[in-house]
Amino acid sequence: MSNIYMDSSATTPTDPKVIEAMKPYFSEIYGNPSSFHSYGRDAKKAIMEARDNLADLIGAKSKEIVFTSGGTEADNYAIKGVAEALKDTGNHIITSAIEHHAVLHACEYLEKKRGFEVTYLPVDETGMINLADLEDEIREDTILITIMTANNEVGTIQPIAEIGEIAAENEITFHTDAVQAVGNIPVDVQELKADLLSLSAHKFNGPKGIGALYIKQGTKINKFMHGGAQERNRRATTENVPGIVGLGKAAEIAKKELPAKIKRIKSLRDKLIEGIQERIDEVQLNGHRKKRLPNNVNFSLKYIEGESILMKLDMEGIAASSGSACTSGSLDPSHVLLAMGLSHGVAHGSLRLSLGKYNTEEEVDKVLEVLPGVVESLRAMSPIYEQK
Ligand code: PLP
Repeated sequence: MSNIYMDSSATTPTDPKVIEAMKPYFSEIYGNPSSFHSYGRDAKKAIMEARDNLADLIGAKSKEIVFTSGGTEADNYAIKGVAEALKDTGNHIITSAIEHHAVLHACEYLEKKRGFEVTYLPVDETGMINLADLEDEIREDTILITIMTANNEVGTIQPIAEIGEIAAENEITFHTDAVQAVGNIPVDVQELKADLLSLSAHKFNGPKGIGALYIKQGTKINKFMHGGAQERNRRATTENVPGIVGLGKAAEIAKKELPAKIKRIKSLRDKLIEGIQERIDEVQLNGHRKKRLPNNVNFSLKYIEGESILMKLDMEGIAASSGSACTSGSLDPSHVLLAMGLSHGVAHGSLRLSLGKYNTEEEVDKVLEVLPGVVESLRAMSPIYEQK
C-alpha cells in the first residue's frame, strides 16, 4: 500500500540533518547553559549559534529572539505579555475571526477574565481581511493588533506589511502569528513591520516542542515566566538545548532550501488544485487562489463529510486533514470556513492536503488517481447527494 503524507500544516517529519545536529546535546554535551564550566559553556555556545541562525532566517537581531515551547506559547506570550504591559494605556485589542485557537483563546481569556475588549475582524470569501475595516476599528485605546501571516487551514496570506504600516502609523504594537509562514514563504520582520512574530520548529522540519517569539527591541512586554535569568529575564527555565539546536539547524536549512522548495511545492500544489477541479464535480477551492501558501490545498467536496473522506483516504495510505489538527475530534465545522461565509454543510466536507519538502510528483499523481473514486463512493451513500 502507498504511504503518502500530505498533512505538513499539522506537522512535518524532522529532517535527518536536524536529528544529527541535536544528538550530541542529549548525550555528551549535556551541561546546563547557565553553568560556568566547559559543559555549560558548550551548551551556551550551541544556543547562541541557533539563535543567530534563526535570527538570520527572519531578518532579526539575535537578542530579539526568545525561545518558547512552540507556536502556542509564543502566541500566548505575545498577546498576554503585551496586553498586561500596556493595560494602563488602553484595553482594546484587534484580531481576526480566522486566527488559530492559540490566538483566539488567548484573546478570549483577556476579554472574559482580564477586562480587555477585543474586536474580531471579519474576512471575505477568500479568507482575507479588509484594511479599511482594520483602520475603522482602531481606537484611542487600541494597544495591540494581532493578525496571522498565513492561515493554517486555507493558506490565505494576509497583507502583513500593510497591516504593520497601519499599526506603526497609529503607534499600536503589532504581533503576527507566522507559524505556517516561516519555512514556507520568505518572512522578514523588517519588511513585515512586525513588533512580535511567532514561529514553531515542527512546521518546517524541526523538532516538536520548540518555537520562538521575535520581540523587536524596545517593545513593551511583561515577563512570561518568573524564575531564573534565562532568555534575557523573559522566560525563566533551563533551556531546551537539543530542541533549540534543532530549531537553529532547521532554520539554517530552511534559509538555504527555501527558493527551490517554494518553486517545487507550488507546482505540486497547482497540479493538485487543477487536477481535483478537472476530475471531481461540485468542488470549491477554499482560500485565495494566488495569495496562498505554496503548500496548501483546501477543497470543500460538497455532499460529503470531511471525516469520512479522511477515513477512506487513510485506508488508501494517504494522510490528509479536514482542517486544523487542533480542532479534529470536535464535530463543529471549522471557524475559519464559517467566517469565510461557507454554510455548515459545505464547511463539513472540507479536505486539506498540505505539502512538504519530501512530497513527490508521483504522490500527487496517486492522490489524483485515488480521490475521485473515494468521493464518488461516498456520494453514492449520501442521502443529500441523492436529493440534490
Ligand atoms: N499558530 C498556527 C497558525 C498554527 O498552525 C499552529 C499549529 O498548528 C500553532 C499556532 C500552534 O503551534 P504549536 O503546535 O507549535 O504550538
